Amino acid sequence: MSNHDLMQRDLAVLWHPCTQMQDHESIPVVPVARASGIWLTDFDGKRYIDAISSWWVNIWGHAHPQINAALKAQLDTLEHVILAGFTHEPIVALSEKLVALAPAGLSRCFYADNGSAAIEVALKMSMHSWRNQGESGKTRFVSLAGSYHGETLGALSVTDIPLFSETYAPLITPQLRVPSPDWTLAPAGVSPEQFARQQFAVMETLLQERHAEISAVIVEPLVQGAAGMKMYHPVYLQLLREACTRYGVHLIADEIAVGFARTGKLFACDHAGITPDFLCLSKALTAGYLPMSVVMTTDDIYRSFYHRYETLKGFLHSHSFTGNPLAAAAALASLELFAEDPQLLRQQALAQVMAEELALLADHPHIAHVRQTGVIGAFDMVQDKAGNVPFDWRERRGLKVFQSALAQGVLLRPIGNTVYFMPPYVMTADELRQVIQVAVAAVDEACAAPAVGRDPGVSLP
Ligand SMILES: *Cc1c(COP(=O)(O)O)cnc(C)c1O
Repeated sequence: MSNHDLMQRDLAVLWHPCTQMQDHESIPVVPVARASGIWLTDFDGKRYIDAISSWWVNIWGHAHPQINAALKAQLDTLEHVILAGFTHEPIVALSEKLVALAPAGLSRCFYADNGSAAIEVALKMSMHSWRNQGESGKTRFVSLAGSYHGETLGALSVTDIPLFSETYAPLITPQLRVPSPDWTLAPAGVSPEQFARQQFAVMETLLQERHAEISAVIVEPLVQGAAGMKMYHPVYLQLLREACTRYGVHLIADEIAVGFARTGKLFACDHAGITPDFLCLSKALTAGYLPMSVVMTTDDIYRSFYHRYETLKGFLHSHSFTGNPLAAAAALASLELFAEDPQLLRQQALAQVMAEELALLADHPHIAHVRQTGVIGAFDMVQDKAGNVPFDWRERRGLKVFQSALAQGVLLRPIGNTVYFMPPYVMTADELRQVIQVAVAAVDEACAAPAVGRDPGVSLP
């Protein structure tokens, strides 16, 4: 097999996700023959550092020996079994571990097989729980401006990224939206905490006025990923938890992107010391090995579905692959790796190196809003920093960064004009420094390039 052969076969039969396929007439797909640790390798032996953990999932890099071994052992024991009415050891052990690790009070695990499906489950469960308690008027959901919760129709209704939702508007039930606490929007001199408190005022008013029709508020705790790694202060989560309790509204924490130590604590909610009513996890749950998601919830919610006679009071939602044993075994092996270092020292050390490297970018003329939460770093490429003039996204300078970094052996995938880093936790300090230096060189190259007309295309997450 050669790179060329595989690319030709791909072009004949594949339809890639999140892609205008016509782009691939000029931008080749990247063939990957094998991967190990942070490295992806093509058929010519060319290597790329996976600096975005393959869309934020491979937290321990690729082909981790302990996860591989766990998966191989599981394969010869039980590859799959129906979870309705049946059970198996890996799913019970995984649920026990998750309950022990998650914010206190989340005592039940309901499984699905991807992030969007977990969001559908949480939305349905929230509304159904109120209904079971005689509150059938609570059917609306509140999300933040710039939110991303997945791309199935229910998830799109609480997603505020027009690129993904606009076309399908006729299929989507409109939901409620409030301003984001994203501190890149804060006026000069206003701290992230002050800004979070200010932005919360609209949420407070909405909940006060309309709580009778609101089932839940859904947020991405601390980092709005697909919006371009927009970050906010944890005080927003504390205020939100208090208000949701005060007004009788559920809080759904979508930690699909930020769960499992991405923010420097095992869960982003831990930074605020709060327990949501629903916690959605996926992406890093199986360390990128297999699709799986889980919605964790409280005893109160669970009991609102428990009934002796009424089947319809039960939560009858299901997915064919619910609780797959191979996925559960991979997830358990990943959690074992956290257990080897309960202080998360590795993640903290990596975050420290990231902070040092990002600090060097403060005076770069085309780099603004340098920001970091745990092991997520990001900045925005701008035309004129002093005048706060962004680049027109239609110039696709993010795509140029992608291409230039790839040529230097680093996989980055800017979102519009936002360049971000989501390294696997096994990356070394030197490798991370190299990644950020390559990114800056790629930004320099992209910013120096002439504006090539107004390409109607876009750079996608
Ligand atoms: C990726 C993501 C989802 C959707 O997960 P999929 O597995 O891609 O369906 C939902 N919410 C957040 C915050 C995400 O980052």
